[in-house]
Amino acid sequence: MKKIDIVVPCYNEQEVLHAFYTEAARVLDPISHYSFRFLFVDDGSHDNTIVILKELAAAHDNVKYLSFSRNFGKEAAMYAGLKYSSADYVIVMDADLQHPPAMIPDMLAGIEEGYDCCAAMRVSREGESRIRSFFSQTFYKLSNRMTDIRMPQNAVDFRIMSRNMVNSILSLSEVERFSKGIFTWVGFSTKWIPYENVERTLGTTKWSFWGLFKYAVGGITSFSIAPLRLVSGMGFVIFLFACLYILATLIQTLLFGVDVPGYVTTLCAVLFLGGIVELSVGIIGEYVAHIYMEAKDRPIFILRQTNLSTQEEESAHGNDTDPVC
Ligand code: UDP
Ligand code: MG
Repeated sequence: MKKIDIVVPCYNEQEVLHAFYTEAARVLDPISHYSFRFLFVDDGSHDNTIVILKELAAAHDNVKYLSFSRNFGKEAAMYAGLKYSSADYVIVMDADLQHPPAMIPDMLAGIEEGYDCCAAMRVSREGESRIRSFFSQTFYKLSNRMTDIRMPQNAVDFRIMSRNMVNSILSLSEVERFSKGIFTWVGFSTKWIPYENVERTLGTTKWSFWGLFKYAVGGITSFSIAPLRLVSGMGFVIFLFACLYILATLIQTLLFGVDVPGYVTTLCAVLFLGGIVELSVGIIGEYVAHIYMEAKDRPIFILRQTNLSTQEEESAHGNDTDPVC
């Protein structure tokens, strides 16, 4: 019987975990030709998430949990879940029931058709604030223009992946992870399953506007050097204009002598060039920050406790060097 691990990142999700487990079990219990195991990742929650996970684990053999020493972020939680998974297929989904477990049978059908990955795609963004939708759409447009990978606009982090694909994802060792890009970058055949956006009814979203902005900038700069090219392009164009302007000023001075007025031109040029320089330094700084974080090579997460057996933990460390494909 094929095994499936369900990785669920959880950060302060005490209100939803029981509801999540009940709904997931309702959908999965009738499916007898796969064996399912839950791999909850408590991402340093401050509430009773870990207590509830322990309760679930005590009541159900197929519930495993990993608990971080602090909040490392959803990306780290997903990475840890994939790293500690050992099944033939791995599902990644949110705990808040915004990723309906009822879609899992359709995803399994996709896998049985021969796809390596079957992923959910929102057809509507109902319930999401207009401003968040606008920025999200702008991000996808910008990112798809600037990077070589094409990220589908409404894709969410709810998907089932083959072992091959999971191993490929783990082989990308970057510390600052942007899974939406990584999922696309590793390739593999993906079937998209559309679904209507579901509003969160329990608990609250963990994203702030600033958090999403940083995530978006990190995403683009992780997968594209187009902003750096933009800086060189701007520099070149400004250089050409400067040459023309110098030539014109020289000719004017030689023919008509020195013309004292020029306050506005000087001020505009200084402010404009100052702005461009600041912007360019900022863009280059983003890349330097990436290099800095990657060079430190700190662990992506630190585990505080788990109910996985020592053997299962050790095999997860083997995942670091798993041959891909
Ligand atoms: N999450 C996490 N660590 C974080 C933030 C979020 O593990 O630092 C989890 C969270 O518990 C949930 C999923 O990631 O299961 C999605 O989070 P959320 O619902 O806040 O995001 P949204 O649906 O608003 O994009
Ligand atoms: Mg959510």
